[in-house]
Amino acid sequence: MPAATVAKLRDSIRDVPDFPKAGIVFKDITPVLCDGALFRDAIDLFLERCRTLAIDKVVCIDARGFLFGSAVAYELGLGLIPIRKKGKLPYKTERAAYTLEYGEAEMEMHIDSVQPGERIVLIDDLLATGGTSASAVTLIEKVGGILVEAQFLIELEFLHGRKKLEPAPVVSFLKY
Ligand code: AMP
Repeated sequence: MPAATVAKLRDSIRDVPDFPKAGIVFKDITPVLCDGALFRDAIDLFLERCRTLAIDKVVCIDARGFLFGSAVAYELGLGLIPIRKKGKLPYKTERAAYTLEYGEAEMEMHIDSVQPGERIVLIDDLLATGGTSASAVTLIEKVGGILVEAQFLIELEFLHGRKKLEPAPVVSFLKY
């Protein structure tokens, strides 16, 4: 993708200071979502990368990961698996606890969503401390999936979240 397009995406992500609590600078992606061309560009970043990989399914994280993961899965004709915050999935789940930049929680995934040996790409909007995606990796591996790569639109590099995901391969498109 042309550097100018990536720069335009980067410029349109809005910093919202002190949200959802004091000291957090929230990266607001809604300006990307509400511009048709930019939204497509963001999806294309994931797609370009996924097309270089052999993958069976897309796993994405509640809630903003769904926005990107579902479009990628649709375009590639792959199954989509949501990882959700505790209490949202109706069937039997695996569960993993995690801490994030502004709280603590548990994530769940249906036990029959990933089949043993399936090759998985994990998609979320943003990698901060890595707690959320590390719990997603735990869930994928618990059910026997093979994590091929974790992909993020945005990475807050100063929080060193990719360390928490080691040795999983991590790709992010916009680094701050
Ligand atoms: P973490 O577990 O710390 O890597 O946090 C990642 C998750 O929290 C992602 O699903 C993000 O949507 C959200 N998140 C964490 N920090 C921010 C931030 N500064 N701006 C926007 N979203 C964030």
